Amino acid sequence: MRRLILLDRDGTVMVNKHYLVDPDGVELIPGVAEGIQRLNEAGHAVAIISNQSGVARGMMTVNDVAKVNARLLAVLHIHGAAVDNIYFCPEVDDDAPCRKPNTGMLEQAARDMELPLAEGVVVGDNVADIEAGKRAGCRTVLVRTGYGADVEKAGTVMPDATVDSLREAVEWILAEL
Ligand SMILES: [Mg+2]
Repeated sequence: MRRLILLDRDGTVMVNKHYLVDPDGVELIPGVAEGIQRLNEAGHAVAIISNQSGVARGMMTVNDVAKVNARLLAVLHIHGAAVDNIYFCPEVDDDAPCRKPNTGMLEQAARDMELPLAEGVVVGDNVADIEAGKRAGCRTVLVRTGYGADVEKAGTVMPDATVDSLREAVEWILAEL
């Protein structure tokens, strides 16, 4: 079965650097390229969904985010990993439909890729990722990179699985679903 796999960006795919505007700051978390490659080989659709409230806060522009995202795709491509789409939410208002834990970006990805959210998986390092995934009816995997180790300790969310990094999240998806 082809599934929609939705990955958080900062702290999950790449090292979290607050309000990153310099594409040279893009740094993959170890194992990410191999993990995405495995998803590609298994025939799953892969998208990145990212809150970027720094835009609404005036810390960066939509163009800054687009440049960082373009670099991220290029770096992944060099390492043989393909991401179908990147979505980001520039809003800071918690009522904005696109801002996780709201499900706007997840729904958009499902429409664009014509895949059901009920068979989808969200992988992320923060509460909003897991919450968004649950609201959308997806399976959820918390990674211990980024904020994930602290989120696990706080115990405020109940993901379907908690693993060390995206690399292990992919193994969980391929083995368990
Ligand atoms: Mg994150």
